[in-house]
Amino acid sequence: MPTALITGITGQDGLYLAELLLEKGYEVHGVIRGQNNPRRELVERLVPDVKLHNGDLTDLSSLMRALRDSEPDEVYNLGAVSFVAYSWENAFVTSDVTGLGVLNILEAVRLHAGSDPASIRFYQASSSEMFGKVQQVPQSEETLLWPRSPYGVSKVYGHYMTINYRESYGMHASSGILFNHESPRRGEEFVTRKVSKAVAAIKLGMQDEIVMGNLDARRDWGFAGDYVEAMWRMLQQPTADDYVISTGETHSIEELLTVAFGHVGISDWRKHVRQDPAFMRPAEVDLLIGDASKARDVLGWKPQVGFEELITMMVDADLAALKAGW
Ligand code: GDP
Repeated sequence: MPTALITGITGQDGLYLAELLLEKGYEVHGVIRGQNNPRRELVERLVPDVKLHNGDLTDLSSLMRALRDSEPDEVYNLGAVSFVAYSWENAFVTSDVTGLGVLNILEAVRLHAGSDPASIRFYQASSSEMFGKVQQVPQSEETLLWPRSPYGVSKVYGHYMTINYRESYGMHASSGILFNHESPRRGEEFVTRKVSKAVAAIKLGMQDEIVMGNLDARRDWGFAGDYVEAMWRMLQQPTADDYVISTGETHSIEELLTVAFGHVGISDWRKHVRQDPAFMRPAEVDLLIGDASKARDVLGWKPQVGFEELITMMVDADLAALKAGW
C-alpha cells in the first residue's frame, strides 16, 4: 500500500487530496498544527482514516518526526498562510510559513530519504499569484515571475527552492503552479465562497447585503477536486517537473455575482452589493489566465467542472448548510 504525508491537511485541498488518495488505496497521514486546532474535528469527520501527526512547517524537528512516524512514499506540501489580503498585514509570518516552511519540509524529506533522495516523491503547491504583474498572457511554466504580494513573494521562494532541491540533490520534487481553485470547502475569506455564502443567506432572508472590494478583478477559477488529481498525476511521472494547472478561462467578480445571484433567481443583484475600500488591496495582480497545455499533454489532465457549474455547486452547498443550521 503506498503511503502519503500531507501538510495542510485541514485546508480545502488537503481534504480533497486525502479523499482521492484513500480512494486509490493509499495509507494517508497528515500534519496538523497547533494546540486545539479547531479544524481537527472536521478532518476526523470527513476523512477518519487519515492518521494525524502534530507538527508545524516552521518546526523542522516536528516534520522529521512526522516523516519518521509515517514513512511516506509521497509528500504533498499544501500547508501555507494562503490568504493574499492577510499576507500584507502579516508579511513576516507569511514569509516564515509559506516561504521558509518549504525549505524546512524539503530539508526534512532530503534528510529522511538518506542515500536515495528521489525515493520520496515531493509535491510543492506553487501558485498563480507568483505571476502577479504578468509578463505574458496566458501564463505558462516559462513565464517570468513577478509577484505582487508577500504571499506571492513567499510562493516564489518555495517554488525556486523546490527546483533547487531537484537540481542540487536529484530529488523527485515537482511544483504545481495552480490557478485559483474553489469548492464548497473554500475558506469564507476567499471571494467565491464569500459570495456563495452571502447569496444563500440573502435568498433565505438571513441577510440583506454583501460588502465587496474590486468588482473588476478577474480570475481563472477551477474546481479544487479536479486540481488535486493533477497533483497526484505529477508524482506518478518518472521525472519531476513543474506544471501550470488552470482552466484557461477568466471571469470577473461581476460575472461571479451575476451567476451566483442568478442561480437563486435574483437578477438585480446590484441592490444587494455595496463596495468598501476596506476590501481593496494595496496592489492587484493583472490578468491571470493559465496555459495548462503541458499538463494536458504530459499528465493527460484537464478540468472537468466549468465556471457556472462550480459557482452553482457552491451556492447550493451553502443553501443546504444554512437550511440545516450549520
Ligand atoms: P486570491 O486570488 O488568492 O487573492 O483569491 P481571493 O478569492 O481572495 O480574491 C480574488 C479577487 O477577488 C481579488 O482580485 C480580490 O481583490 C477580489 N475581491 C473583490 N472583492 C473581494 C472581497 O470582498 N473579498 C475577497 N477575498 N476578494 C475580493
